Amino acid sequence: MRPYEIILKKRDGQKLDSQEIEFMISGYTKGTIADYQMAAFLMAVFIRGMDSQETDALTLAMLHSGDTIDLSAIGKKTVDKHSTGGVGDKTSLVLAPVVAASGIPVPMMSGRGLGHSGGTLDKLESIPGFRTNLTEKEFVAAVKKTGLAIIGQTKNLAPADKKIYALRDVTATVDSIPLICGSIMSKKLAAGPDAFVFDIKTGVGAFMSTLESAEKLARTMNAVAHNMKKDVVTLITDMNQPLGYAVGNALEIRETLAALEGRPPADLKELVLGLASWMMVFGGAAKTPEEGHRIAEENLMSGKGLEKFRQMVAQQGGDPEVVDDPDILPTAQHTEKIAGPRDGYVTAINALEIGLCSVALGAGRESVDSKIDMAVGFIINKKIGDMVKKGETLITVHYNDHKKMEAIRQRVENSFTISEKSVSRPRMIYKVIKP
Ligand code: URA
Repeated sequence: MRPYEIILKKRDGQKLDSQEIEFMISGYTKGTIADYQMAAFLMAVFIRGMDSQETDALTLAMLHSGDTIDLSAIGKKTVDKHSTGGVGDKTSLVLAPVVAASGIPVPMMSGRGLGHSGGTLDKLESIPGFRTNLTEKEFVAAVKKTGLAIIGQTKNLAPADKKIYALRDVTATVDSIPLICGSIMSKKLAAGPDAFVFDIKTGVGAFMSTLESAEKLARTMNAVAHNMKKDVVTLITDMNQPLGYAVGNALEIRETLAALEGRPPADLKELVLGLASWMMVFGGAAKTPEEGHRIAEENLMSGKGLEKFRQMVAQQGGDPEVVDDPDILPTAQHTEKIAGPRDGYVTAINALEIGLCSVALGAGRESVDSKIDMAVGFIINKKIGDMVKKGETLITVHYNDHKKMEAIRQRVENSFTISEKSVSRPRMIYKVIKP
């Protein structure tokens, strides 16, 4: 086999067999296939696509490029959730303890901020002492003992994805459905859970900006998971405005704690319960999603989820005092309220701009090795559908650096569209897609 022939075949629209795909992926991971050949291969896949068998083969080849985690010592069916990322998305932080409170083990491997979207690991690390780098042994033991753990990817998990993702990033081949599916599913399958709930976001602040592309990715990911004998369901959800009110690491932990104390923002509550209802079914705590929804709501509103969160923080080396005293979280030195320029209704909030401005304030990374400012970010005071009077606060900026504040003030204000006519609040869950 030669890389040239495989690239040519895909370039000309022919179907590849699993050996050819495995040859490209393992060769590239080992370093026997050069960047320029892999880049050409990725572009051929981007343009020609892959059918379901090819996508399965790609995912498997990427999965077997490294270690897989053995969760069998947990002794129960495990369930995980993955989202494609958004702005203000603290869903995992609320969802995992709510589900674990019903005795369902939730072994979660999460990511860091990427582009304009925040990362669960960065948010958790705003809690003093919290460790996201547990070893595989510690991870399995933690889930067995407490029922949940949220950590970063262990070192040699799907190394093919790390290498290929970096190449896709610089060759305009990121937004290809089979490549996204292979990337996400290889990591998720390597992490070992028995069932998945996926949250594919759509809208201005999402990776998949249209409902159509989100649905296509959902069907592709469902098919791969189903073919690997995993239980799976995918929700297509709204990312046309930030989720909840807080954007920024420590600010989102505060909102998470308030939610788990029974005061969740309406959109976050709807999303958490929508995802949890299926996790309850897959984990055996409920017979139907409706029953799962009821149980999840009870766990969220009664404080049972909060207790699980406290246990997780303590187990991962964080200060559990944070649950009773959120003021031990980093706090910004300054706040500034940005006011509405006229009377009207908020009809749009550009989530992408808000996400980019939060990065510019320091809440995310401008480059791989930038240091994050855990305290900064936004509290959104008016969401889509809300009435606003001239001079009333639209959004409050928490910041530490005056220059950075100056640089984003106008952009933040411009992210809000205020119109004379009101609009209804966007639906949170557009579709539930089963295999
Ligand atoms: N997230 C991933 O992990 N991989 C992709 O390709 C896109 C989003």
